[in-house]
Amino acid sequence: MIVRAGLLYDGTLDAPRRNVDIEIDGGNVTAIRNAAEGGTYDRAAACVTPGLVNAHVHLEMSGEADTMGSLALLKPNQRMIRAIENAGKTLRAGVTTVRDVGCTNNFAIDIRDGINEGRIPGPRMRASGPLLCMTGGHGWFAGRMIDSPWDARKAVRENLWAGADCIKVVATGGVLTKGAVPGNAQLLPEELEAAIHEAHRHGLRVASHAIGTEGIKNALRAGIDSVEHGHMLDDEAIELFKRNGTYLVPTLTAPTCILEHLHDGGQPEFVIRKAQFVNEAMQKNIRRAYEAGVKIAGGSDAGTPFNYHENYAYEVELMHTLLGMTPQQALHAATAVAAELIGLHRGILAESEPADLLLFERDALADIRSLRSPQAVMKAGAFVS
Ligand SMILES: [Zn+2]
Repeated sequence: MIVRAGLLYDGTLDAPRRNVDIEIDGGNVTAIRNAAEGGTYDRAAACVTPGLVNAHVHLEMSGEADTMGSLALLKPNQRMIRAIENAGKTLRAGVTTVRDVGCTNNFAIDIRDGINEGRIPGPRMRASGPLLCMTGGHGWFAGRMIDSPWDARKAVRENLWAGADCIKVVATGGVLTKGAVPGNAQLLPEELEAAIHEAHRHGLRVASHAIGTEGIKNALRAGIDSVEHGHMLDDEAIELFKRNGTYLVPTLTAPTCILEHLHDGGQPEFVIRKAQFVNEAMQKNIRRAYEAGVKIAGGSDAGTPFNYHENYAYEVELMHTLLGMTPQQALHAATAVAAELIGLHRGILAESEPADLLLFERDALADIRSLRSPQAVMKAGAFVS
């Protein structure tokens, strides 16, 4: 198959190419060449980009106003059905790769396998299984509570046994858990170190939920691969990010969506209060980290209140408007950089990379909001919408 692109953003920061033919075979891109005069093609589009990559999702959660309350009220099978539905919505919206960083019942692991077996539609996936938190810590309802370095190692081994291909730890409190203070450190440095060491021994990367300053630095010093949220980072944290080459996944959409729906009702008061606090820190600090050269990988925390799986393009817009990235830099963060962190493929359109691509009727980056509505979505060489 040949897709002719009037304009190609390949996911890198190189200047976009004009009038190229993308040759696809066996699910991969086999060549990208200048469009031949009079040559034939199967499909044409004004603009083509790689499929988007979301490094932070929770497929089991559907953006309900009281997300945690809903998790508690729904039966496991109902949550599984919603997770499958969200996987389909994710893919149809043009998000062709995701990393699920916390679910109950190992749902995301089974969904990943179901997608890979061709039984259900969905993006390419990595899945962490239950997150590792301290007893009663942030996310305990979707977590495995650990309370010592050895328990941390055992929990990693359990997740590995269940089929996890990444690990998620919780270094600080968070917004959606009642009683968990976002600024406070939770898992201890020695618990984080043990979990990370055990995961790395088996080739698994580790993501840490971390909002508060001390917890962010605990995770960075312990050798974490990515800090999720990172909203209260300071100068020392920025230095640690850069020295270790750690990725920051800022999940800008998460507090933004909570605060955009203050008056819709249904959100617990403690969630709103904490989101206001976290949003203030985020507005102040994340841009500074980006400007200082910290690697920013796109990830939205999809599933949290009003933060729908099919709206990942909003995170790309926010990286542009809040962090000062150009539209192309924001697309790069939401494709190549996020893919590099997840580690399944390079997230760019190049020879021998997966043929995951989005077709647009106009230059998708002239108005970045165009990313919300691709004309067609292709995964592994087949159109899915
Ligand atoms: Zn999350």
